[in-house]
Amino acid sequence: MPTVAFIGLGNMGGPMAKNLLKADWAVTAFDLSESAFSDVVAAGAVAAPSARDAISGADVVVSMLPAGKHVKSVMLGDAGIFSRLPKGTLVLDASTIDAATARELHVAARDCGIDFMDTPVSGGVAAAQAGTLAFMCGGTAEAFVRAKDVLKAMGNEEKIFHAGPDGAGQVAKAANNMLLAIHMIGTCEALAIGAANGLDPSVQSEIMKASSGNNWSLQVYNPWPGVMEGAPAGNDYKPGFMVDLMAKDLGLAIELAEQSSVDADFGRRANDVYQSLQAAGLGRDDFSIVMRSLVKDEGA
Ligand code: NAD
Repeated sequence: MPTVAFIGLGNMGGPMAKNLLKADWAVTAFDLSESAFSDVVAAGAVAAPSARDAISGADVVVSMLPAGKHVKSVMLGDAGIFSRLPKGTLVLDASTIDAATARELHVAARDCGIDFMDTPVSGGVAAAQAGTLAFMCGGTAEAFVRAKDVLKAMGNEEKIFHAGPDGAGQVAKAANNMLLAIHMIGTCEALAIGAANGLDPSVQSEIMKASSGNNWSLQVYNPWPGVMEGAPAGNDYKPGFMVDLMAKDLGLAIELAEQSSVDADFGRRANDVYQSLQAAGLGRDDFSIVMRSLVKDEGA
């Protein structure tokens, strides 16, 4: 049975590792936090005492870590895994990190003969649990063919994209989430204007879905409480995709825009909105809570 070493078993990594087990991969798992292990070990993974131990005998390595500095600390340097892996090992970093660090990791991997891809995801915890994540992959076409075999155990095969060369997955992810933030804010503003002028938010949502304002926030994530069953808005904006994570992703997108000399004005404004929500203590609420700052009584 082929083996995946999985590093980082948090909200996303835990369910992803469990889906690999379901698809008959053997999994050796490592996380700095012992409490992160119990679920995946109960599902059949072998707990390793360190990242170095986890990679011993692994055919593929998958990491799902908070940020670029964590990924670098696991992969690079004398203590990192790159220098210890057999040449040709496939390493997939599914974390959301800055594109510059992802490119640095590609160069270091190449020096060590490792087949590396940046493979960030879209879909959140629910899709990680359901095994329906979208993956956007950066690196060579050859690595992508190998990666797809592993990624389809954790995602929807039709949503596994080869975004382009080194770092392209992270670029696609940052750009996508910036657009998501902008259209969520626009959707909230449109619904607030409608409600202030006597429109029923459910009726207005149907009108916009059938019209040119249609977008993902309206289709599957309506921010007005009660309009859409299962959306975080109907449960006091919990749980969901946290404001803190959206602010992190907007920071990455804006940094990338600046490095690329793109004047992403709306991205910066969206970042200001999400930073104010963080300052108001709403960092752990779902990012559609921006609705609440626009309408005092939105029927919650
Ligand atoms: P999390 O904080 O729940 O999990 C991260 C895990 O990494 C933790 O268990 C932590 O102990 C572990 N970790 C940190 N440093 C480590 C190290 N050096 N060695 C081993 N383990 C280490 O975060 P998450 O929500 O699972 O997110 C993981 C990544 O996925 C992030 O980059 C995030 O931006 C991205 N992401 C998250 C979501 C979401 O909805 N949560 C959606 C898409 C993408």
